[in-house]
Amino acid sequence: MRFGKLTSAVAALGSMVTLSCVTTPAFAWGDEGHEVAALIAKHYLDPAVATKVNTLLASDTTQLTTTTNIDSEATWADHYRAKNTANYNQTHNWHFVDLQISGPPDLKAACFGEPPLNGATAFNGPPNDCVVDKINEFVAELRDPATNPQERLFALQFILHFVGDLHQPLHSSDANDRGGNDKKVRAVPALPKSAGKSSGELHGFWDTQFVAVQGKSATTVANKLIKKITAAKRRQWSAGTANDWAIETYSVSKVNIYGPLPAAGANGIYTLPAPYVKNAKSVVADQLSKAGVRLAFVLNDALK
Ligand SMILES: [Zn+2]
Repeated sequence: MRFGKLTSAVAALGSMVTLSCVTTPAFAWGDEGHEVAALIAKHYLDPAVATKVNTLLASDTTQLTTTTNIDSEATWADHYRAKNTANYNQTHNWHFVDLQISGPPDLKAACFGEPPLNGATAFNGPPNDCVVDKINEFVAELRDPATNPQERLFALQFILHFVGDLHQPLHSSDANDRGGNDKKVRAVPALPKSAGKSSGELHGFWDTQFVAVQGKSATTVANKLIKKITAAKRRQWSAGTANDWAIETYSVSKVNIYGPLPAAGANGIYTLPAPYVKNAKSVVADQLSKAGVRLAFVLNDALK
């Protein structure tokens, strides 16, 4: 469970309050992570597919993102969720899949039993569903030429975002700590100032700080990562389904997030030493690269 704390905050605030101020710390990859993945995907889109993507995104009139470019639109689903309580209640579970670290990973259980759409559009599907199901449903809609233009746009916007979320290891795993939101951590030595705060929640570190340490802008980071993506890696990553990628990401979490986490101190705070941070930085670089390559793989296939 990702946003229990937020739910109570929402209840306390009443129903019509704009949520952007309270949701920020719980966002999946901060905006920057989603932008990086989308920019990597853009690099690998077939030219005809890129044209279709750009045309579809240009039809977004919600003004929930800074621009209608692919990198900006990859953050749309978070801004849509934050807009009001109804949007939050309808879509917040769709951003993650709580595969239990205590294992073995049970996709069906973590996906609320994989509820069928029963004729509804993916956008109007059950609120209790997971990121894996939603990717599969929206991809089927994007692929189908009979899907109406508004639903196609929703499908693209959610795919751009959810393929990113799926690769944030704490969105594909849980250790009864709301995906790391209940664990207070502190980096010792402190992170560079440009990376933000050196103490906070484990989840937030993997969403934001470990992305911020990659470089100073999404464009810089994306270009740096693209240079390291070999043809062999791209081939290896361009295979499988969202289901496979969730299980893979779950293993990444087990090995790199929870595995090396030192015991909490007497104050309940987990201290992250330099080797943990160094490894996290390289894991995040890898996850963002995979997310970008796979996003292109999904779009090239659905819109070919
Ligand atoms: Zn998200």
